[in-house]
Amino acid sequence: MRKIIVVGSGIIGLSCAFLCSLEGYKVQVITRNPEEAASWIAGGMLAPFSEGLQGSFFEFSYKSLKDYPEFVRLLMEVSRQRVNLWEDGIYRVVLKGEESLLEVAEGYRRLGYKVTMEEGKEWLSKEVISLINYEEEAWVDTEMLMDALFFAIKRLSVDVVIDDITAIERQGEKINALKGLKDTYRADFYLFALGSWTGELFDVPIYPIKGQALKLKGENLPKVHYSSISYLIPRENYIYIGATSENVGFLSGNTLEGIKNLSGGAIRVVPSLAKAKVISMLYGYRPATPDEMPIFEVGENYMLASGHYRNGILHAPITARIALEYIKGNRSPFIEMFSPKRFLTKS
Ligand SMILES: Cc1cc2nc3c(=O)[nH]c(=O)nc-3n(C[C@H](O)[C@H](O)[C@H](O)COP(=O)(O)OP(=O)(O)OC[C@H]3O[C@@H](n4cnc5c(N)ncnc54)[C@H](O)[C@@H]3O)c2cc1C
Repeated sequence: MRKIIVVGSGIIGLSCAFLCSLEGYKVQVITRNPEEAASWIAGGMLAPFSEGLQGSFFEFSYKSLKDYPEFVRLLMEVSRQRVNLWEDGIYRVVLKGEESLLEVAEGYRRLGYKVTMEEGKEWLSKEVISLINYEEEAWVDTEMLMDALFFAIKRLSVDVVIDDITAIERQGEKINALKGLKDTYRADFYLFALGSWTGELFDVPIYPIKGQALKLKGENLPKVHYSSISYLIPRENYIYIGATSENVGFLSGNTLEGIKNLSGGAIRVVPSLAKAKVISMLYGYRPATPDEMPIFEVGENYMLASGHYRNGILHAPITARIALEYIKGNRSPFIEMFSPKRFLTKS
């Protein structure tokens, strides 16, 4: 049996570890801090339409959306944990002055996707002129998803080690070992899923974009309301309000300005949320790239899968599938498409 080391325990690393160990590989996950992963903080929207994605990047994202129900079913079966996945569609909120969103929706509808328009919901503010219902979109409780992934890999006997990988010993395209603060690690294949911290070990343009979010106890909403000023995500016992987008490096903590923007944005869409109670505040770092698409770098015995930016939760099933196939000797065309070579300046 071949041994695989996965570095990083966010959604990408854990999903890869899950699929690879299910396939019979001996997997070890090395992570320096499971809690710092952005994946715990994410809203969990699976929203390639609301995000306005286009072309091959849309296709990649749409495939992953379609893989989600089976991925979650398998995860629940192996982990024996419940994971809430709502397949009810997402409302893209159209505010005054945002009529161009209707043209984007019309474009998707013409391509044959399920898009309907709704109006006149009593809980919405006067600023909202329309709701685009992207019926195929979904959302998932990311905390349940992450918990279930940890349970599942434990049940599959994946070894989870807490260590900080500080150096990679390479010979050309081949990795010989990983140096951590505690130990040196060797495997037949190495999978790196380092999120916003990728730049510490790889020369690729990935940097953190901080996102703050709030959890509220307030009026229940029938489905996600995704607007340009806030998104409101109903979960089982609370509403998640996301998210700021700040280019401030790894500056920690929630700020008054962040909370003001989040609460102001939420109230502008659903005014009754002004009376909602704040349960908690969150923040995390999206792994961003200059063109907002992921980076897949591959070598003889390794793969880097990172830079999923705003859509890492959405992209987990397809990324894990691509990594597993690469380990088995099959190279997805998406590996070329998301190669870091696209950032090399042409002379
Ligand atoms: C506020 C917010 C809202 C979001 N909402 C959504 C959403 O609705 N839908 C969606 O699809 N996406 C969303 N995202 C984006 C999504 O969260 C990320 O794209 C995704 O979580 C990235 O996952 P990852 O596994 O690549 O990185 P992470 O989850 O950040 O995990 C990286 C892991 O690598 C470990 N690590 C790093 N370097 C080392 C090292 N040298 N040695 C050992 N371990 C290391 C870290 O400790 C960490 O555990 C949101 C993000 C934020 C912040």
